[in-house]
Amino acid sequence: MTSETERPSDFIRDIVANDLRTGKYKKICTRFPPEPNGYLHIGHAKSICLNFGIAHEFGGTCNIRMDDTNPIKEEAEYVESIMADVHWLIDGWADKHVGGAPFYASDYFDRFYEYAIDLIGKGKAYVCDMTAEETDAYRRMGKPSSSRDRPIEENLDLFRRMKSGEFPDGARTLRAKIDVNAPNVWLRDPVLYRIRHASHHRTGDKWCIYPMYDWAHTLSDYIEGITHSVCTLEFEVHRPLYNWILEALELPEPRPHQYEFARLNMTYAVMSKRKLIQLVNEKLVSGWDDPRMLTISGLRRRGVTSSALRSFAYNIGITKYPSMTDMAVLEHTIRDEFNRCASRRLAVLRPTKVVLTNYPDGKVEELEAINNPEDPNSGTRKIPFSRELYIERDDFMETPPPKYFRLRPGGEVRLKYAYIIKCDEVVKDAAGNVSELRCTVDLDSKSGGPTAGRKIKGTIHWVSAAQAIDAEVRLYDRLFCVPEPDAGGDFKSFINSDSLQVVTAKCEPALAEASPEERYQFERLGYFALDPDSTGSRQVWNRTATLRDTWAKAAKRS
Ligand code: ATP
Ligand code: MG
Repeated sequence: MTSETERPSDFIRDIVANDLRTGKYKKICTRFPPEPNGYLHIGHAKSICLNFGIAHEFGGTCNIRMDDTNPIKEEAEYVESIMADVHWLIDGWADKHVGGAPFYASDYFDRFYEYAIDLIGKGKAYVCDMTAEETDAYRRMGKPSSSRDRPIEENLDLFRRMKSGEFPDGARTLRAKIDVNAPNVWLRDPVLYRIRHASHHRTGDKWCIYPMYDWAHTLSDYIEGITHSVCTLEFEVHRPLYNWILEALELPEPRPHQYEFARLNMTYAVMSKRKLIQLVNEKLVSGWDDPRMLTISGLRRRGVTSSALRSFAYNIGITKYPSMTDMAVLEHTIRDEFNRCASRRLAVLRPTKVVLTNYPDGKVEELEAINNPEDPNSGTRKIPFSRELYIERDDFMETPPPKYFRLRPGGEVRLKYAYIIKCDEVVKDAAGNVSELRCTVDLDSKSGGPTAGRKIKGTIHWVSAAQAIDAEVRLYDRLFCVPEPDAGGDFKSFINSDSLQVVTAKCEPALAEASPEERYQFERLGYFALDPDSTGSRQVWNRTATLRDTWAKAAKRS
């Protein structure tokens, strides 16, 4: 695994290193340009880690820029969530490399307009009278618009009148005059401005013409002094237009350059904001931060740490080829970190009561338990032991299959950090369910005792009933039950109905002091983090990851 102390290597970092070596740029400036039309997801995290990683490793800066050129779709709530998510992901790591307060493409609307006037003046743009549909059709056919040869003065006049609100939506556009037959369709006189009589979340009603992506994006990069404009592969076909804009305006060097990498796709997930919005709006999840969502806020709530998410982004690497990353890779990264850092605790998710008939009533022993076997500095804690305990329902079977080494009638099992017990009697309720197990304890079998070394195959976890605290535990699993919910049909029909189970668990008393910043391994069960729904009197725990990959086994079986 790559650690944050070694610099990852990929083709983009090679280019950056070379540009610094040859003196092409004195200082590196990258940017992360989200459109504020939804919450950020794990794919954005990959882009953030790449752009801030480059700034961090090469002593440069990275700008956060809201690509807020579309007045209809954007909301201030999204801007806030984006900032919170970016900071959560980079603070303490690359926060020194933030280029300043967030930038907004909408702050450059005046300059974009001036550049457009300049372009028209150079004879390289014209006002076109066709509708959006006609424009599309003509571009497909490689046919010139009848407005293409309009004189410069007339273009300037019409464009100013577009800006002043004289024409309705869709009546006219400003188009670059490049080549209607270009093999690359993006160069076939692309639209640079369209009319939209709509309020914008930052500029209000000042504008009724709005710039298109290529115009706004290229010029924002130039205005901010971006050196390496890194985006995903689908923008590769836009790169000639990006370069054309810089060239046509004769903008002085240094100019930015665009590079593309493969976006992150993950199995058992959907990634596009359009689909995530549907899950939220149709209440198929509890919100953008539902812990099953691969949004940054969902992952955070689930208990994933920013360091684990950054390790994930580093480990998957940056390539030029589209691919699918297995969800197991993310889960493995989480386990890898949490195994090193998480404090071990005992909790019983589905309790069955055990009464130790030969253990004195009222006696409470304090047994010593190791906080983290992977970290010798984490020390030990005391856990109470008494006559009445809870064990996991699944750790007892009346008629067990072969190789079942946990508790059975007449069988023995070791209680972790405590004694060996033997099941003498199974008590059932009226419905025939096991309500209590009556057991005897081998009082000599505690660590250091004369029979402590007895060979017992199974060891199970437990909590002492009187001191246990009740907690709600939310057991999260993958949101989709198929590897590619996007591959065909309605992705929502593949939602895993077992992706959330809620239980009331019995927890060892040390968990009362648990902190939301810390991560815990409930022994034999998984990794857990406190949910913000926790109150002083009732904790709510989220399962961040299981201890093992249960899906790999299931996939092999099927
Ligand atoms: P979506 O398709 O999920 O709605 P988007 O590309 O429209 O995402 P933007 O807000 O425009 O979202 O993206 C901001 C930046 O994040 C862009 O530079 C984009 O290339 C990058 N990005 C978006 N999705 C991914 C992904 N899956 N993997 C890597 N980078 C991504
Ligand atoms: Mg986008």
